[in-house]
Amino acid sequence: MVHQGYWNNQSVTISVKPNCLTISVGSKEVFSYDLAGRLWTALLDEVSYRRGLDGKIVAKWLTPDKNRRRRWLSPKEAADLIQHGHLLLRALLEKLRNKEIMVNPPLDEKGWSDLEIAASFDIGSAEADVVKYHQVYKPVGILPPDQYISVVLQAAEGCSFNTCTFCDFYRDRPFRIKREDEFREHIRAVKTYLGKGLSLRRTIFLGDANALVIPMPRLISLLEVVHDELDVESLGGIFAFLDGFSGERKTPQDFARLAEMGLKRVYIGMESGHAPLLKFLRKPGTPQDVLQAVQNIKGGGVAVGIIVLLGAGGKTYEMDHVRDTIQLINTMPLDTNDLIYFSELVENENLPYVQTAFQHSLQPLSTEERIQQGEMIENNLIFNPKRGIPHISRYDIREFVY
Ligand code: SF4
Repeated sequence: MVHQGYWNNQSVTISVKPNCLTISVGSKEVFSYDLAGRLWTALLDEVSYRRGLDGKIVAKWLTPDKNRRRRWLSPKEAADLIQHGHLLLRALLEKLRNKEIMVNPPLDEKGWSDLEIAASFDIGSAEADVVKYHQVYKPVGILPPDQYISVVLQAAEGCSFNTCTFCDFYRDRPFRIKREDEFREHIRAVKTYLGKGLSLRRTIFLGDANALVIPMPRLISLLEVVHDELDVESLGGIFAFLDGFSGERKTPQDFARLAEMGLKRVYIGMESGHAPLLKFLRKPGTPQDVLQAVQNIKGGGVAVGIIVLLGAGGKTYEMDHVRDTIQLINTMPLDTNDLIYFSELVENENLPYVQTAFQHSLQPLSTEERIQQGEMIENNLIFNPKRGIPHISRYDIREFVY
């Protein structure tokens, strides 16, 4: 329900939705909250903000020449933004209560309640919420971009490989699979923590990096726990990574069974179709393993999200990476339900990749060259028109927020 009015000669819109509350004042201030009252997004002077459950806030804007820019707010800036929203909503609430502002149609019970809850979200409650978040979750390392608004359930912790030189998401976290009772307790803690904010979440993401390497009998038991605790279908189904390939491999029949239990899409960090580059990156498995996994997943009726690492191996591997990646993707039975993500290699000095690249005198690709590499791959992909074209987009891990 959308309620409109005027405040200081500016329009005010209060949008009361089943899953969130959005307040707009004039054309330059918009604040959205989940139904537990957590600040979720904001828009101020054409800069958009997204707050993660861990309290971090990323700001994004377009430059006059239409280039995308991004910056993470300092703790002080994040607190100022929260306080700005808090004071704005508190003042609005007071004026509405005093009938100094009238909105049409008038707020109903849910509208008043959602507004009161959101207006109470100040720096103190934001800090307390972050403390609770860390009691429930081990830091969520990364998610695919279409899963930033999922509810993450950490069935396993860490990555079962932890060898890839370009990845440090789980370096300090040994891989382990949760026991059933422990997982149930985790899900209950997540539900209590999210509270009414659960309604904002659109899917379930089974964490961490590699939950689908869990052997079938154990995985089925863990998924049964998810079904006991949550309405999987109404939450949009289950999504997960399958990364690196060794040990138990799941068959098309296994994936069909997982699809029956709500599995919708599996994300695969393929990185490249060029085997020597995968070796150089210390990525477990071969391009053939990736292809086999995609065939098995698709054979079981589950969609895939393929992630390609742009810039990997610098100029030394540039053209081999392009050629073999095109060739591998063109061999996959992809369709309109699948995704292909182009993710730029992000180098920081803590990564073993940077040291190895230096030892091998690799010349890195510039940002423009990485974008061109993605375009070269994309322009040469051939899909079966009968199956349809997968959605292709960019994946910037520096913008990840949960
Ligand atoms: S398999 Fe994935 S999560 Fe694990 S180290 Fe490699 S890139 Fe990182």
